[in-house]
This record gives sequence, C-alpha cells and structure tokens, in this order.
Amino acid sequence: MSKQYDGVGLFSGGLDGLLAIKLLEEQGLKIKALHFYSPFFGHPRNRAYWRRIYGIDVTMIDIGQEFVDMLSAGPVYGVGKMLNPCVDCKILLLEAARRLMPKYGASFLVTGEVVGQRPMSQRRDTLNIISRDAAIRDVLLRPLSALCLNPTAVEESGLVDRSRLLGIWGRGRKEQFELAKKYGIEVIPTPAGGCLLTEKENARRFWPIFKYLDRPAQSHFWLANVGRQFWSGAFWLSVGRHERDNARLNELLLPGDILLRLTGYPGPLALARNLGAEPWPQALVEAAASLLASFSPKAVAAGEPVETLVRTVGENESENCIMVLPNRNTLWGEAAWEETAMEIKQRYKS
Ligand code: SF4
Repeated sequence: MSKQYDGVGLFSGGLDGLLAIKLLEEQGLKIKALHFYSPFFGHPRNRAYWRRIYGIDVTMIDIGQEFVDMLSAGPVYGVGKMLNPCVDCKILLLEAARRLMPKYGASFLVTGEVVGQRPMSQRRDTLNIISRDAAIRDVLLRPLSALCLNPTAVEESGLVDRSRLLGIWGRGRKEQFELAKKYGIEVIPTPAGGCLLTEKENARRFWPIFKYLDRPAQSHFWLANVGRQFWSGAFWLSVGRHERDNARLNELLLPGDILLRLTGYPGPLALARNLGAEPWPQALVEAAASLLASFSPKAVAAGEPVETLVRTVGENESENCIMVLPNRNTLWGEAAWEETAMEIKQRYKS
C-alpha cells in the first residue's frame, strides 16, 4: 500500500513550489511533491539532487505525450509569445495531479502560484479559469497567496490552518527570499522557467514536427532537442555536435530511421527521419552524407570524397557505404524563423 499523504504539490523545481510545500510541512502536513516533465520542460534526472539539497522526495511524472497531444490539437487558450500554451499547460498539469490524488490518499492539491506574479498564467482571472477548467476548485490550495483568495474547503475543514498561510501578491520576490532563509534553503532555485517553448530557437526546432504530423509522438521532440536540425520538406536530419549528442542520437533511433557515420574520419553522427509518406530520394541521402561530412574538419581538409556508412534501422535493416564530398548543400536547410512564426500565428493565434 502506498504511503499516505495529506496533499500533493506541484514542484517545477522553482522556489515558490518548494516554499508552498515547506509552508505546509511546517504545519505537520505530509505533501507528495510531483514533478512533471516533457521534452519541453522539467528536470527528470534531478530527484536525488532535490532530495539532497531541499530534503523533499519528488516523484517524476512524464507528461510529454499528453502535452504534445494538447499542443497539436490546439490549446484552447492559445499560445504566448512563442509556442508556449501556458494556460492550457497549467490546466493539463493540475488535472493530471488531481487524477493522482487518490493514489497518494491526498485530499488537496498545492501549487506555489502567487497572484499577480506572472503576466499570462498567474493573473487572478486566469487563475480562476485554470482552477475551473482543471476541475480542481474544491481541492486547490495556493498557500503563498491564500490570504488574498477565498478560503478553500481544506482550510474551512480545519485540515489546513489558514492563519499560518500567507498573502503574497505581485512580482516582488522579497518575501519569498525571506522565507527561503527561514527554511534554510541555501541554493535558491532559479525562477521556474526554462521552458523551451518560450524560446524562438526552440520553437523553430519543434514547429516542423507539428507541421508534418497530425498527432506526433513525444519521441520526435526529444530528438528535436539534440544537435543541429535540418529539414527538406518532411525529411529531417539531426546532426550531433559532440559525443553526448551522438550517444543520444543512438538512443533515440526508431525503426525506419537512417543513421549516418563517416568511416575514415572523426566526425559527428547524423540521424535522418522521414515524417512524410514519400520514400527517401537517394539524392537527399547523399546530400545528408555530404552535409554530415562538412562538420568534420579533417574530412573537409582531405579535399576528396569520403566514405559514409548509411544504416537503415528496423525490420528491413540495411547498411551500405557511399562516397561524398563534404558540402553544406542546399537540399537541406534550417527552418526559417519568419516562415515558422507566420505558420504558428496562422495555426494558433488567428
Ligand atoms: S512556460 Fe512552458 S512550462 Fe511554463 S506554463 Fe508555459 S508552457 Fe507550461
């Protein structure tokens, strides 16, 4: 039987979520911290680190596929400046946390949200929309801003002592820093952020996948996070930048993918994936090999054709070698930002 908790708390890795949990633990309540991660946000490898420096036991939850499904279906409340669907994201995470409450025997849900702190997802009216749509009105507790909000069911029931909750409002961080000091938190987490969907460079990496697939698998977005990305229509090439990228490309291989590697010179690996229905044109595979070779300074310096091993993985596994000249050719290109921005706007903001 799983250990019982009073509440579950969303912990993104930021200070506010941590303080909300600490504030309730100070009342003697047991809170199960949940950390949601996806290809776009989260720190799935931080569990031991957080336990060591913050003394909290965090359960990691992969929300990637649900998040991708929401984004490809079209977020109800649209996207922010880039590809970040913040309101729908909060609703999705809170709904998922609510569904997990019975598993931990929890009777409420805690977040570190502060009213008025963030422009889009934490305004008072937006907070109301989020709690309504996630169907968590009866169970949601925001301990840091509780005194600015109406008492919740768990406060009224006496399970949570409202008089020991706070009334923090707005963008200032002074009260949070004082609290951190009080709880002996020496390593202050950076503001929860770090969401790749808010960055232009990453929106550009991710967008073609949404463009070519109606219901993409989250594995594509993990691949989009690795190395340099090139596209030719629905054909996709990811070129490693260092050993870590190369190892990751090997891990992310799917049936049908093509792995390219220079045989005679040191250089990166490349993973080629086809998101469309057309078969690979041979000229495009050769262009991928040329492009890959252009990232090997020794192959470029050789000034002659170099051998590349082309391995197609999956049921009809095959391997062959081709000779190519290193060349940053025009068959492969990076997604143009202007075009990407326009397409995102057409899909989500019109
Ligand atoms: S910035 Fe990213 S992780 Fe944060 S609420 Fe928005 S979409 Fe979600």
